[in-house]
Amino acid sequence: MKHNFGAGPCILPKEVFQEAAQAVIDFNNSGLSILEISHRSKDFEQVVIETEALVRELLAVPADYSVLFLQGGASQQFAMVPMNLLPEGGKAAYLDTGVWASKAAKEASKLGNVEIVASSSDKNYTYIPKVFTVPTDAAYFHYTSNNTIYGTEIFEAPKVNVPLVVDMSSDILSRTINVADYDLIYAGAQKNMGPAGVTLVIVKNDILGKSGRTIPAIFDYRSHALAGSMYNTPPVYSIYVSMLNLRWLKAKGGIEVIERENIIKARTLYDEIDRNPFFRGTANLEDRSRMNVSFVMDTAEQEAEFLELAKERGLIGIKGHRSVGGFRASIYNALTLSSINALVDAMKEFEERYK
Ligand code: PMP
Repeated sequence: MKHNFGAGPCILPKEVFQEAAQAVIDFNNSGLSILEISHRSKDFEQVVIETEALVRELLAVPADYSVLFLQGGASQQFAMVPMNLLPEGGKAAYLDTGVWASKAAKEASKLGNVEIVASSSDKNYTYIPKVFTVPTDAAYFHYTSNNTIYGTEIFEAPKVNVPLVVDMSSDILSRTINVADYDLIYAGAQKNMGPAGVTLVIVKNDILGKSGRTIPAIFDYRSHALAGSMYNTPPVYSIYVSMLNLRWLKAKGGIEVIERENIIKARTLYDEIDRNPFFRGTANLEDRSRMNVSFVMDTAEQEAEFLELAKERGLIGIKGHRSVGGFRASIYNALTLSSINALVDAMKEFEERYK
């Protein structure tokens, strides 16, 4: 048995894979594959409608927000956000909590002025800066709620007086949020929503159309909102598999249920990291992520040996990102507590061997 701790694309529920595989052969008993049908067919239109309805229901999205399924990943959103929200010569504020946050700011700086309100780069992004001031003349404030590489997370939406934009790529659908606290939420799907290839955008309609810029239609949120995410051929299969995954989440009891499980999973793993003398967490205690758990050992030899043991136990994808080293266990929605326990058992086994 494999326990998939990969950071993304990542684990999805087995039953989702099974149903998704079936649809490649025969979609809805139509005698056709999902891969060969028109995106304008009734059957597929229904998929988009249901996927949007599930997002709206699970996250309680208010009626004055559009829910969009786009392409280009979260990285395209780094550019689309300023294209749509930042006037020529205007200013946007960014919180720098890691590589993704800083890439987002870099893209915005190509279109206007960017003010970095605070950064944790001084300590390799192991903490979340808490004290900062967002200029009131900023067109928006952007932050990253979960820093996938470093294992830090911001649970509370910052209170600011300008439109609030968040990259929730690696923690969307893992915990309850109040969508109305935000003006624009985006997330590459390939963690908790579905497979790679589709990007979720939830945007408050009345912030759009105010930048005064000429925006190519494909990069204009309004084109996609007007066309119900069918402005051009959407990523049909990625949306379909996301729908199956959202159905799975709903059947489980929704976000509150998964959040409770995620809290227990994260606590179980962090408790072992804190107890076991061979391991050490890298993120600041109060900023620890519930999705990506980063930890190290004292020596490179120990780490190589633990990685070998992990491999023998079927623990996949725990090698840390090159900029942090050590290990990163990504413990997304579909990863079960039994997989966490398998990792904890391997850590205990290592301790037994050497203590
Ligand atoms: N933001 C965050 C928080 C991420 O974790 C990632 C990718 N892991 C990205 C942005 C970039 O996403 P994409 O590859 O979909 O462009």
